[in-house]
Formats: sequence, structure tokens, C-alpha cells
Amino acid sequence: MSYRSGRHFLQIPGPSPVPDRILRAMDMPVIDHRGPTFGDLGARVLEKLKGVFKTECPVIVFPASGTGAWEAALVNVLSPGDKVLMFETGQFASLWHELATRIGLDPEFIPGDWRHGVDPEKVAARLREDTNHEIKAVCCVHNETSTGVTSRIGDVRKAIDATGHPALFMVDTISGLASADYRHDEWGVDVTISGSQKGLMLPPGISFNCASKKALDAHENSGFKKSYWDWGSMLGNNASGFFPYTPATNMLYGLEEALKMILDEEGLENVFTRHKRHAKATRIAVEAWGLEVLCLVEEEHSPVLTTVLLPDGHDADKVRSIILEKFDMSLGTGLGKVKGKVFRIGHLGDINDLTLLGALSGVEMGLKLAGVPIKDGGVQAAMAYLSETA
Ligand code: PLP
Repeated sequence: MSYRSGRHFLQIPGPSPVPDRILRAMDMPVIDHRGPTFGDLGARVLEKLKGVFKTECPVIVFPASGTGAWEAALVNVLSPGDKVLMFETGQFASLWHELATRIGLDPEFIPGDWRHGVDPEKVAARLREDTNHEIKAVCCVHNETSTGVTSRIGDVRKAIDATGHPALFMVDTISGLASADYRHDEWGVDVTISGSQKGLMLPPGISFNCASKKALDAHENSGFKKSYWDWGSMLGNNASGFFPYTPATNMLYGLEEALKMILDEEGLENVFTRHKRHAKATRIAVEAWGLEVLCLVEEEHSPVLTTVLLPDGHDADKVRSIILEKFDMSLGTGLGKVKGKVFRIGHLGDINDLTLLGALSGVEMGLKLAGVPIKDGGVQAAMAYLSETA
């Protein structure tokens, strides 16, 4: 392959580009993970990490991808055969459902059209029917990375509370954390699941479970056999900053730097505002091109990514491959049911106005080269919005 000048544009909805500062922070000698220097690092990072979850609860760090943290969450608070309520908001919700089935849970999957988030009224209606409290957990994906639809987790919590049902509330915000507003404690979430490679701007490789008091109590009575994923030995060791097995040492250096950038320098609320503004600029461009965004609900548009639906007869993967070849930019492919019909523009993590405009320019040129009938002026419209709101 010949040399390509300039930076590759990684505009997929995670893994997101890793800032040089974070790469430099990770560029450290590997240290003894049982020694005092590591203990200090572990203690500092585990405490600071609570800030991005908006929690006082413990956050458990696994050397695993998000899928591992999905499994860990379920096996720590539930028992084989337990009924859980899940919602088909997209591909990731479908994969979590499949995982739950494989490990021996009895998930009920409420169908969805992949264009809406979890409907709080449907949650309440199903829980009201469950008078014997057979449903042990309600599981939702906060930011559905396959569709660009964000579920209203605070409203789902209110809906659960209105029924008085005791089910645990488990939320995947693997692609929402540190990009989309999220409040573990205020929203009464029992287990939050997340990962490193999206809003935290780290490489893939570590993932998280944040556990409420109710979840920790449920852990005591969980009937699943577990070893690697067991919160018990993890929390015991974490009390002094250590881990029961070899942690991803250098990822923790990177995590500390990311938390400093997000919490101390930019500020979490500013991070949320920036993501919302970039998402809005992207939707303005899509609308000006005369194309449709997959998400149908105004307040459910994801701040993390925008999923663009192509007119019938046009292959979204062909558009993506033209853009990769001509402009050196990766966009997210359509997953599962929407394969070939959509592409996804990631606008999360380490990006600014000009990165976004560069990305949108590549999309506009690529759509035209692929013969998709679009109107001119998408990038122009996004530029006008960004300069008005600069
Ligand atoms: N859940 C969501 C919302 C995701 O976006 C992803 C990955 O993109 C996962 C779960 C699975 O995480 P991983 O691929 O890190 O195992």
C-alpha cells in the first residue's frame, strides 16, 4: 500500500480517535501491578472514574471489551433461569439479548423498529402485568450505536418507579459515557455497563460495571457461577487500589489522563454540550442533502453518532468504500437489519468543528461520487450553524 498523507479520518462511532496526549500518557514502562506505585494509580483512577458515571457507587474495571462487561453485569446480580426484560432498539440490544439467552437467562425481548428508543410506557405496562415479580431486571441500551437513537433512561426509571416493581435496572451506556448526558445515581440505575473506546477516547480493552447498593445486595444472592467476572474478589482488591488478576496497567495511565481532560479541563457538561452541537450540525447537513436520519424522535437523537438512511436502490456500503478509497475516511457500516441501507457518522470523543466539517465534506463528496441523488449545500448549512453557535 502506498503512503497516504495526512491523518486518517476515523469517523466510526467507536473506537474513536485517541488523542496524542492519551497515547503519550500510556507510553510508560510497565510496572509491578502488586507494587505500591500501582496501588496508588489504581486507587486514584477508581475514585476519579466515578465522576463520569455521576456516582458515589463503586466502578469495577475489567480488562475486557464491552461484551465482557455485559456478561459480568448479568452474572453478578442474576441467577440461571431468571426472567429479564429487554428491548429491541437495535443491533447492540439484540446482541445483549442473545448473550443473555446463551448464558441461561430467560429474556423477554420487546420488539422495536430500530428508529425509536425504549418506550417508558411499554416498560411500565409490562411491569404492571408482572404481579408476581417474576421479572428480575429491566435491561436497556442507553445509546444504541447501530441506530443513533438514545433512550430516555431518566424517564424509564420514573416509569419503573410508578409501578413499584422491584426489578433491577441495568443500562448499557458503552457508547454514551462521557459523550451523552448520563447519571447513574440520579437515575437510580443499578448496574451501568460501559467501555473505554468511545467517549473516554481510549483504545479498546477495558470495560466497566458501576454497581448500586441494591445491585451489590443482589450480588450476594446471585446463583450464577463466576470467577473472572466476580465482583466480590474485584471489590475486595480494589479497596487498596489493586486487582485480583493482572490489570491493563498502561490503559489505566491513559484513563487517568482522559479523566483529567474530561472532568478537570473541559468539564463534563461542556463535553455533553459539544457533542449535542456537533450532532445537530450533522443533522442539518443530512437534512440539507435531502436525506433521512434513522432516528425518528427529536429528543432521542444521539449526540454520539448520526445514522443516515439512503434512498432505496443505493448501497450504503458502496458509499462508505468510495469515501474510504478517495478520502481516507472510515464511516460506520450498517449493522444487522439495516446493513447496506444506512451508514453511520461518528462525531464523538476527540473532535472539533473543523474535524466535523472535514468529515461532512468527505460524506458530501462521497455521496455524489456514488451517484446518490442529494442536494448541494449540506456542508455549507452545517458550517453556517457552527459559525453562528461558535
Ligand atoms: N453495546 C454497545 C452500545 C456498543 O456500541 C458496543 C460496541 O460497539 C457493545 C455493546 C459491545 O462492546 P464491545 O464491542 O467492546 O465488546
